[in-house]
Amino acid sequence: MAIKSFHPPQRILMGPGPSDVSPRVLEAMSRPTLGHLDPVFVSMMDEMKELLKYAFQTKNELTMPVSAPGSAGMETCFVNLVEPGDKVIVCQNGVFGGRMKENVERCGGIAVMVQDDWGRAVDLQKVEDALKANPDTKVVAFVHAETSTGAQSDAKNLVALAHKHGCLTIVDAVTSLAGSPLKVDEWAIDAIYSGTQKCLSCTPGLSPVSFGERALEKIKNRKNKVQSWFLDLNLVMSYWGGSTKRAYHHTAPINSLYGLHEALVILQEEGLENSWARHQKNHLALRAGLEAMGLNFVVPESERLPQLNALTIPEGVDDALVRATLLNDYQLEIGAGLGVMAGKVWRIGLMGHASNKRNILVCLGALDDVLGRVKAPVQLGVAVAAAQKVLEN
Ligand SMILES: *Cc1c(COP(=O)(O)O)cnc(C)c1O
Repeated sequence: MAIKSFHPPQRILMGPGPSDVSPRVLEAMSRPTLGHLDPVFVSMMDEMKELLKYAFQTKNELTMPVSAPGSAGMETCFVNLVEPGDKVIVCQNGVFGGRMKENVERCGGIAVMVQDDWGRAVDLQKVEDALKANPDTKVVAFVHAETSTGAQSDAKNLVALAHKHGCLTIVDAVTSLAGSPLKVDEWAIDAIYSGTQKCLSCTPGLSPVSFGERALEKIKNRKNKVQSWFLDLNLVMSYWGGSTKRAYHHTAPINSLYGLHEALVILQEEGLENSWARHQKNHLALRAGLEAMGLNFVVPESERLPQLNALTIPEGVDDALVRATLLNDYQLEIGAGLGVMAGKVWRIGLMGHASNKRNILVCLGALDDVLGRVKAPVQLGVAVAAAQKVLEN
């Protein structure tokens, strides 16, 4: 029997990413493929860099999308900025800090871990103590928006603290970019990476990155070659670089880049501040509905991410059954817990294109139905109205 074309169902993606992709982005991706050195494509790449600078709020020349998912953006930062023997303070308050540690160690660096409880922001005092105890530290790395728990850390003050101690900073902004206030130049972030499938609502598989002057200085003065050929910025820049002639490094994912270009045009049309405000407003509406049901957030209010809502699963409720029922009956995907939170929390994403009124009301209505069917200890019939009240203001 011949295998036929694949036709995925139309889901509502309200997990930790990927988020719903705008039809405009999907349409852009279906446009004719160009050669990766075609002058028309190259001028699109120049626009892309400008659009990314806007999204990151930076003038950094070295701002571009790495041709691979967010994890590759993470790796790009570490392999270029960490040399064998370098000490790196890694703040861990969830899954992704653990991956940073792996990266440091695979670069031959020494990771000094600053641990915080999962579900809390990174504690500035602990970072300061670690910097004082390790005056030879070269880099401080942390996750701005910890998608595994829904906690947001104080990027601005963490960067200021690292600089006070003469360290460079690597910031994970995979989930924060376009969803929460993020100002690369104003906060003086040295190296930052993001992803396309969270609040940019593009398809997965690209990782916007940006590097400032101090980071470039460090890369220029490396004693050793970057151990990854593919992610070595000196080589990548022969393709993505400024005014110099573009040379082949790897074949860019042409049509994916059309999609990112369109996603960034959409962001520009909405306005970055308006996008941040929309994520916050929709979070408040969802929160009102969830709290009316009696569901509890994992993260204290002042440290919560608007785009990722982590909730404690009520006592006695079958996590997998609820999520499967939401998927089968409502085409609705919400996220499971990761790592130590597996089986204990649900993660409801309100990211990018998916952060809208319809999704909030569908999600609350669906939860109301499914939690009622499994006889969960929650208040039924009140969530949608509670959210509506916030949305109408
Ligand atoms: C999703 C995510 C990543 C990894 O991105 P991929 O595109 O899955 O490789 C890294 N850090 C954070 C905080 C994320 O949410």
